[in-house]
Formats: sequence, C-alpha cells, structure tokens
Amino acid sequence: MSRSRPRSDEETDVFTDAVATMERIGEEASISAEVVEALRHPDACLVASLPVRMHDGHLRHFTAYRCRHDTSRGPAKGGIRYHPDVTLEEVQALSLWMTIKCAVLDLPYGGGKGGVVVDPKELTPMELERLSRAYMRAMADFVGPDVDIPAPDVYTNARIMGWMADEFQTIKRVKAPGVITGKPVGLGGSEGREEATGRGAFHVVQELAKHKGIEPADTRVAIQGFGNAAYHVARLLQETGYRIVAVSDSRGGIYSEDGFDVESIAEIKSRTREVQGVYCKGSVCELVEHDRISNEEILELDVDLLIPAAIEGVIHARNAKRIKAPVVVEVANGPIQGDADPILDERGVLVVPDVLANAGGVTVSYFEWVQNRQGFPWSLAEVRERLEERMVRAFDDVWYVHENEKLSMRSAAYAVALRRLERALESGGTREFFSNNR
Ligand code: GLU
Repeated sequence: MSRSRPRSDEETDVFTDAVATMERIGEEASISAEVVEALRHPDACLVASLPVRMHDGHLRHFTAYRCRHDTSRGPAKGGIRYHPDVTLEEVQALSLWMTIKCAVLDLPYGGGKGGVVVDPKELTPMELERLSRAYMRAMADFVGPDVDIPAPDVYTNARIMGWMADEFQTIKRVKAPGVITGKPVGLGGSEGREEATGRGAFHVVQELAKHKGIEPADTRVAIQGFGNAAYHVARLLQETGYRIVAVSDSRGGIYSEDGFDVESIAEIKSRTREVQGVYCKGSVCELVEHDRISNEEILELDVDLLIPAAIEGVIHARNAKRIKAPVVVEVANGPIQGDADPILDERGVLVVPDVLANAGGVTVSYFEWVQNRQGFPWSLAEVRERLEERMVRAFDDVWYVHENEKLSMRSAAYAVALRRLERALESGGTREFFSNNR
C-alpha cells in the first residue's frame, strides 16, 4: 500500500508527530512535565547493516533498526516490520506507541520496535530466512527475554519469529523461547496468537457497540487492508452479523453494498498465493461481482464503521473532512496523523485509537512470554478468555476517562497510560522530592 505519510524534509516526520500528540495529551491530562520529557527520548536505538548472500551469489546489505523507547514499567516489547519505507523515525514512533499501548493494557512492559528496510515480497524464502537470522545476529546483545522482546509486525510472521528465536538460542547456547513472541506453536508459540490482534479489535468493537447502542445488522463496515489483523476482525464481525461492504489490499479494494463473505475472500487470496512464496501475491481485486475502489476511496465511503488496518498516516488533514464514517477503529498502528485528529473530533467522528484497538496482539504476546517462562502452555480457550477479560478491562478504563473527563478516546487512552507511566517514573523520585530533600 503506498503511504500518504509526508516524506519531504519540510513536513513533520512520523516520530515528531507522535511526540507532539503525546505532549498535547500530556498537557490535557495534567501529566507531570518531567514524565512527558522522559518519553520524548527513546532509551536506545541500534542501527545495523545486515549482509545477506542472495540466491544468485551476490552479497546485499540491508539496513535494520531496533529501538527501546521506555522500560520503566518492564522490558521493551514490540514487533519487527519488513517494509521498503522503514525509517529510524518510524521505528521510534512505533516504539513510543508500544510504550503507551502496553501501559493502556497494564502489561508489565515498556515499548520497543524494530524494522528492516526491505521489500520481502522480492526475496526467496531462503533469502528471507538468511535476512531474519542476520537480524537476530546483529541484535542478539540488544534484545533478550528480560530486556526487549520482539514479535511480528507488518510483513513478518510466525515462521520469521521461529527463525529468529532459533538464531538467538543458537548464539546464546540456551533455550530461551521468551526472547521473542508470535512464534509457531511448535516452537513455543501460544495458541491464539495468530488471531489475537483481530480478536482484540473485535472485543473493542463489541464493547463500543454496547455503550453506543450499535446494532450489528445495521452496521456497514469498510476495512482498509486484508492482512492478518484485518482478516480476523472482519471474520469475527461478520460472524456476529456486521455487514463487511469493503476490503482492500496493497493493490486496491472492492466494494459491495450487499456485503462480502469474508471466508471466500480469504480463500481466493490464499489460492492465488505463489506456491512456494511466504507472501500472498493475489489480490482481493480478483474477485468478481463487486465494484473496484482505490485505497483512498475506501476511507471515504459512506459506511457506519471504518477500520483502517494497513499502514500509518492514511488519514490526514487533507482527507479528514471527507471521512463519512461516524466511527473509526484504528487496527493499523498510527493510521490517523496528528493533524487529522482535531478535524475528526470537531466533526463528531468517534475514533477508537490503535493503542487500545490493536492491543490484542501484544496482549497474547504477553501470555506467550508468561507461558514460556513458566514452561506451562495454556489452551486456546484459556487464551481467548483471558484476552477478552483484558480487552474489556482496558476498554472500560479508557471509556471511564473519556466520559468523566470529556476527553476524546485517544486522549483518554493516553491519559490512562501516561498516569501509569507517571506512577512508575515518579517512584524513582520527582523534582519536588529531590529539591525539598534536606
Ligand atoms: N506488532 C504488534 C503491535 O504493534 C504486536 C507487538 C507484540 O506482540 O509485541 O502491537
């Protein structure tokens, strides 16, 4: 999907934008200035060059990043993305959002993120394995089960996590499956991790529906993206009676007023997958009996619920006025730029922020890490039950602040998170404490 995030030097980069949002909400929610200042600076970032021998014998170097944003509440946690547009600023922004997200869910983690500048669809499966192992070789002293725990993100998956976990354990000569989450179940992954982001978002929509009196049968849903999270949230919503009228992938979207059968779309996508490829090369555009729409048009459809579930920065000041959906649930990380938030607020669009809506993934990652450390796997039913409980609790915490302090849901979610971070950071001593100390 081509991103509309501005890339020119004059325009704000994504990390500056993320910090500005955090600062604005810090002020709105009366968070101590020292805490906001601490969160403006990522703890540490490692930039590495990964040499990979390609299938034709030549050596290629890929730029890779890992950032730990804040670890005051626990080890850093967050995914690794493979994407040609990855930048240091993007990884920093994503790591800041992980700090907030883990605090909203009250997980004992800080925030981290990683990325590799690569178009993984151009790699053979063996090149992909070499790249993934090279990433872990470069990062092996920077991550660890008690330090920083990676996981999947855009264009990375369980198999890649398995290769990385294996590489770490080979280097360290220990079994430490808790170094990474989102692994295949056979290598210590958790039941239910694959569907967790979509299922978590589904619980959030259900809670919202209860509070706002939304009836599934009357609700037309447009979803930008058809990756793992989008597929699962679409599937669960449809099973509950919602009408999925539009979906898209990186090549474009499809629209049908009557609604789609989500499983059929998934089936067609998987059938058109290249036989040995790790990535799906098919497009939802290949389905018949629908209107084709672009990834920009899908955002502006006259629907009841819009779910951007692809990439960041797709809703911005330039198109925010044209968003017709009264409710937007952010399943991607950062799909709404900071400059669009006030426009949407003013127009009465209810935005359920990413740091709540897509937190199901990291929540089941936490469950996976707990299971690895205990050496005691849980059943799928246990994982699902605990995920629902966590998501509902986080939704209620955010909704309470939203209602009682008259804050937008994004501001309320950040307020919940920043207050938890404030408690952790202030336990080490505040300016008042030190200046009054005799
Ligand atoms: N990449 C996912 C996210 O952005 C999951 C992170 C994790 O499981 O640690 O939340």
